[in-house]
Amino acid sequence: MNEIKHYTIPVFVPEMACPFQCAFCNQKKISGHYLAPDFSQTDETIRRYLRSFKQNSRFVEVGFFGGTFTGIPTEVQEGYLKVVQPYLKSGQIKGIRLSTRPDYIDEQVLTRLKKYNVSTIELGAQSLNDEVLKASFRGHTAHQVKIASEQIKSFGFDLGLQMMIGLPHDTLDKSMETAKKIIAFGAGNTRIYPSLVIKNTAMHRWYLQGKYKPLSIEEAVNWSKVLLPLFENNGVKVIRLGLHPSEGLLNGSELVAGPFHPSFRELVLTEIWSEKLQTACSDFPDSSSLEIQVSPKEINVAIGYKAVNKKKLQQKFKNVIFTPNNNIISGKFKIRKLDNSTCF
Ligand code: SF4
Repeated sequence: MNEIKHYTIPVFVPEMACPFQCAFCNQKKISGHYLAPDFSQTDETIRRYLRSFKQNSRFVEVGFFGGTFTGIPTEVQEGYLKVVQPYLKSGQIKGIRLSTRPDYIDEQVLTRLKKYNVSTIELGAQSLNDEVLKASFRGHTAHQVKIASEQIKSFGFDLGLQMMIGLPHDTLDKSMETAKKIIAFGAGNTRIYPSLVIKNTAMHRWYLQGKYKPLSIEEAVNWSKVLLPLFENNGVKVIRLGLHPSEGLLNGSELVAGPFHPSFRELVLTEIWSEKLQTACSDFPDSSSLEIQVSPKEINVAIGYKAVNKKKLQQKFKNVIFTPNNNIISGKFKIRKLDNSTCF
């Protein structure tokens, strides 16, 4: 049986309504979309994506991302949401998700979103430490995120809480505290974005003045390798790890500095697997030839980005091979000593 494939049709509504200028954000540049689409363009985007999907057993959502959706004029919000309704009715689209700020949530807003069948609301929490929020010019407190999360849950929406790592005044401990609060507030999913220095932002200015230093790639990977299992072990799905490689970032014209990598999630998973495998393999003598069996879904990250994990183990042992095994569940593995069939 075919697995159900999950698709999100992204509609970017950049900074149309955003009354803030967070220190890290030049939203128009991060999304790579400079103009908000009108309603007919939104409709055309949905049709185009629906035509492009190959797999029949699929779950499709429309996601309004970018700015502060619930801060745009009510009639514009409704205009966007109305475009999606016929597709929800026909079953081609199963849900609507949108992102907004915690201080743009109230009962009236939630009632409207419920009326238009929105299923998931993602809040940009970014940090749940007030010192970090203040230093990043977020304009809201951690307590406001808590209250908004409670309201969203009480209306029956799925809750997403996004976080950033490496903002001004952030530390690994504060990020872990943020992650624990995201779990406690009842989020079903999260996104983890390493902070980047984007042109024409406050953080860009501070970076040039030597007042802000972004995390290195190694630091961002090391923080994320702690946060990812923390979320996963508590039932919070990490739907994104690292910023989406929009053109502006990839060609380097907007990204000034910071831990951007197009395969950031893979780097983090590589590191997590490296630690697991190094520990487990240390029980074997260096002269061993080892077979490491992993779920087919995870074999690439177990071998590592650019096969780095395999190469490391091959330097220590006589030989190391990786084999896919359908009977092994996610995150687990078996090591077999090829010479005398010892299994773990
Ligand atoms: S992060 Fe969100 S709230 Fe802050 S400036 Fe960007 S769009 Fe506005």
